[in-house]
Amino acid sequence: MDILVINAGSSSLKYQLIDMKKDVVLAKGLCDRIGLAGAIVKQSTHDGRETVRTASMMRHSDAIAELVKELTGEACGVIASMDEISAVGHRVVHGGEKFFKSVIIDEEVMKILEECAELAPIHNPPNITGIRACQEIMPGTKQVAVFDTAFHQTMPNYVCMYALPYEYYLKYKMRKYGFHGTSHKYVAERAAMFLGKPLETLKMVTCHLGNGSSLAAINGGKVLDTSMGFTPLDGLAMGTRCGTIDPAVVTFLMRKEGIDTEQMDAIMNKQSGMLGISGVSSDFRDLEVALNAGNERAKLALSIFNYQVCKFIGAYAAAMNGLDAVIFTAGIGENNPFVRYESTKGLDFMGVAVDPVKNALRGGERDISTDGARVRTLVIPTNEELAIARETRKLLD
Ligand code: ADP
Repeated sequence: MDILVINAGSSSLKYQLIDMKKDVVLAKGLCDRIGLAGAIVKQSTHDGRETVRTASMMRHSDAIAELVKELTGEACGVIASMDEISAVGHRVVHGGEKFFKSVIIDEEVMKILEECAELAPIHNPPNITGIRACQEIMPGTKQVAVFDTAFHQTMPNYVCMYALPYEYYLKYKMRKYGFHGTSHKYVAERAAMFLGKPLETLKMVTCHLGNGSSLAAINGGKVLDTSMGFTPLDGLAMGTRCGTIDPAVVTFLMRKEGIDTEQMDAIMNKQSGMLGISGVSSDFRDLEVALNAGNERAKLALSIFNYQVCKFIGAYAAAMNGLDAVIFTAGIGENNPFVRYESTKGLDFMGVAVDPVKNALRGGERDISTDGARVRTLVIPTNEELAIARETRKLLD
C-alpha cells in the first residue's frame, strides 16, 4: 500500500510517496516557485536517483501534474501508474474547533476547511488549493486531511481560553489552538514505546524545536497545554518570531513608529526572535558560531531561548503535577546538544539531568539522561510525513 503525503504551501508543494508495508519512502520531492517564473521540480528516490528540472507551474494543479510525471516517469519514476496510490494524506495547518482528528475529505469537510481558512490565512488557503488540485488530477483516490491543531483539541477550556471579552471567542473563535500537533503526537507515542510504558501512564513535555518551536504538556497521551496559541507566533522566541511578549508592546510600537498592522505582523513574525536579538541569523548553527567568536548578542539570543525552554518545561511539570520524560525533537531538538544541555541544566531539582557524554552523541531515538535521573530525557527524531501517512492508512482501515 503506497500513500502520497502532500504539504502544500502558497508557492511550494512538498510530497513523499511512502510504501506503508515496508515503511520506505519511495520518493520525495518539491515543486517550488508555483505561480512564479523559474518554477522547479526536484525529486529524489529511495534508490538514489535525483531529478531537478524547470517546469511551468502557474497553479497547484500544474504542480500535481508535474508530481505525477515524476512519480510515474520512465527514468525517474517509482510506480507504473497513479492507480497504485491507495490514498493521499494532506497536511492541513488549522482545523479550528471542528476537527479533533484526521478525516476523509468530502465536500462537507471542504466547506468547514474553507470556514477555518480565516483562522490561518497564510497556511490554510494553500492547503485547500493543494487538496482541490489533487481531487482534480486524481479524482478516484481517497484524500485525507491531517491537522496540525487536532492533537491539541484536548486542552481544557481554562487552558485554551484567552481572558479577553468572551464575545470575541463567540465571534471569531479566538482562543489557543496550538500547532505542530502531528509531531508532538508522533514523538510522544514513539517515546512511550522507547520507554516500554503505556502512553496513558506518562507525563511528558515534548519540545519541538525548529525554525518554529513549540512545547506541549502531554498527560496520559492527551495534550494539557501547548506553547503556541491562536497563531504559531505565541510561546517561545523562535528563529524570526518574537513569541510571547506583553500585548501592550504591540499598540505602543505601532503608535510610536507609525506602523500599520501588516508591518507590525512582519516585525513580529519575520524580524524578531533569534534574528532580531542577535542581528546575525535565525539559524542556530550560525548563532553558535557567533557565540564562540564572542558575539554578545548571539549569546543573549541563545540564552533567551534556553531560558524560555527551561521555564516552559518547569511550568508544564507543575501543570501536570509531575513529569516522567522530556522529549527533544525537530532540527534543533535533534541536532543541538548545546540547547538540550543549557535548557535543562536548571531542572535537576525536579529530576531532569542530561548526561554530557550521551548528549554529545549523534544517532536516532536515544536516552540522554544520566543513569540515575528520575525523569528521562530523550531525543526522538520527528517524522511528520510518516505520521500523516499512518493517520491516512488508519482511516482507510
Ligand atoms: P523548520 O521549522 O523549518 O522545519 P527545522 O526543524 O529544520 O525547521 O529546524 C531548523 C533549525 O534546526 C535551524 O536553526 C538549524 O540550526 C537547526 N538544525 C537543523 N539541522 C541541523 C543539523 N544537522 N545540525 C545542527 N543544527 C541543525
